[in-house]
Amino acid sequence: MDADGPDGPSFPANVSNVPQPPPSRQGPGDPSIRRTWWLLAGAFLALAVVNGFRLATERQPVDWLTVGLVIVAAVAAIAHRNAVAGLESRGRGEAESFARILRGLSHSVSADAIVSAILDDLIAATAADHVVLVRRRSDGVALDATLVSRRAGVPTTTTVLPLAVLDAPSDGEERAPVAVPIAHDAIAPDADPLAPESEPASPAPPRPAATPVVLPRVARRASDVGGGRMLIRRIAAETLALLKDVGLPTPDLLGARGTSKPSEVLARGPEAVISERVADRVRSVFGLSHPLTVPLRAERGVIGAIVLSRRDRDAWSQSARRLVRVAATETAAALDRAMSQREVAASASTDPLTGLPNRRYFEEFSSLLTGRRRAGDALAVLMIDIDKFKGLNDTYGHPVGDEVLRSVAGAITAAVRDQDVPARIGGEEFAVLLRNPGPTVALEVGERVRQAVRDLDLRSLGVPTVSVSVGVANANTAEEPIDSLIDRADRALLRAKRAGRDRVIAG
Ligand code: GH3
Ligand code: MG
Ligand code: MG
Repeated sequence: MDADGPDGPSFPANVSNVPQPPPSRQGPGDPSIRRTWWLLAGAFLALAVVNGFRLATERQPVDWLTVGLVIVAAVAAIAHRNAVAGLESRGRGEAESFARILRGLSHSVSADAIVSAILDDLIAATAADHVVLVRRRSDGVALDATLVSRRAGVPTTTTVLPLAVLDAPSDGEERAPVAVPIAHDAIAPDADPLAPESEPASPAPPRPAATPVVLPRVARRASDVGGGRMLIRRIAAETLALLKDVGLPTPDLLGARGTSKPSEVLARGPEAVISERVADRVRSVFGLSHPLTVPLRAERGVIGAIVLSRRDRDAWSQSARRLVRVAATETAAALDRAMSQREVAASASTDPLTGLPNRRYFEEFSSLLTGRRRAGDALAVLMIDIDKFKGLNDTYGHPVGDEVLRSVAGAITAAVRDQDVPARIGGEEFAVLLRNPGPTVALEVGERVRQAVRDLDLRSLGVPTVSVSVGVANANTAEEPIDSLIDRADRALLRAKRAGRDRVIAG
């Protein structure tokens, strides 16, 4: 997907304003380092207890025990150093991954390219088995959920979800309580102090059946922990996790594996409710487990979400959380940009008063169609002009005139066939491009339009009736340029005006 690779050229100029990845977090906030400190703390606590005991009894064998504990402390210090080294190398990998994501984004001209860049990089950089990107479809009527699997040979799948999944939460809709299993992450002092949106502590929730041990939600300070038993239990859990980190076999003393929450979202308040909703949908549609969900935020609200999922129950690493947050920020910005561009493009070709295509669109579309015409393809144009509209404006006022314009536009749209293209090409002038009409169809459609406008009920505006004159031109040959066709229809319209208005004349 990214031909440049990690060592490719530096970011192009247009990426310079993209926020750079956060610096690799080293220090006591990292779980590995924290665990090491807990082991050290545990060893020294034990030393203190033993020494106290020795002081009390003055028995010689205690000396040996003291020596043993010092060795444990030394092992812990070495493990600490290894953990820091591991963290550094993870940080480097992460930075490369960020670079790839950002470069992918900067090169992206289409939303699909953005999706591809983000999903591929997330799956490579996290321990996720699946990544799902949920986003508004370009037609704005539904959501696309695109799933990428880590497993080779599993094709990328996209399914459609209802737009309502992203609706703002209704009154009383609250985030379902989430189970908090025992985990070295869960029992660490509030897991991620640097994370911008770590979840607020929730009351002790129900315990999932498969989770071996459930401890109450973590207290912030040791004094809150509620006694020595809790402290020792915590030290034991951290020690087990550390042994696991350094690749040593772990005795299943507490049954305390690091397990992820059944569903975790990196958001607060209403965004958390929406994210849970997305996670639920994605789980049921794709059959995923342990989702980690982060919403895609834009100024207009939540425009989608990224969901990571994994089969095993290991807790999500801080690095995966950080990565998915940055990816979500970049994805949301890129998708929002793409949506805005589409809106600007749409507004540039739409008449704001009637919602019909404008002259620019009509001309562009006409020339496009003319260029593609094959011998035998028929084409016709209707030119429609409201009769005596100036007088209507003068009598009833400009705002009423505007309403009449809207009504006439609606009548024209309803009277033409689906494949025809109506447009407002001037003040009170409309045109319709008729594709492949039979010899008499253009005249019939013109007459339908005239009658539909005549039948408009405008009494609510205080206007009795309104009429239009219509000029019709059928292409004589497949080669006849669209300008010539429009010109002929215009001349026919003029004849209809001169002949007394409210009529259809073919040119
Ligand atoms: P004819 O039957 O010969 O077409 O007479 P007419 O009065 O319709 O034609 P004329 O070209 O003299 O007047 C067109 C009027 O359309 C003048 C202008 O004020 C009005 N008009 C143009 N655009 C708008 C608009 O967006 N809103 C309103 N309310 N009036 C508009
Ligand atoms: Mg006119
Ligand atoms: Mg007119």
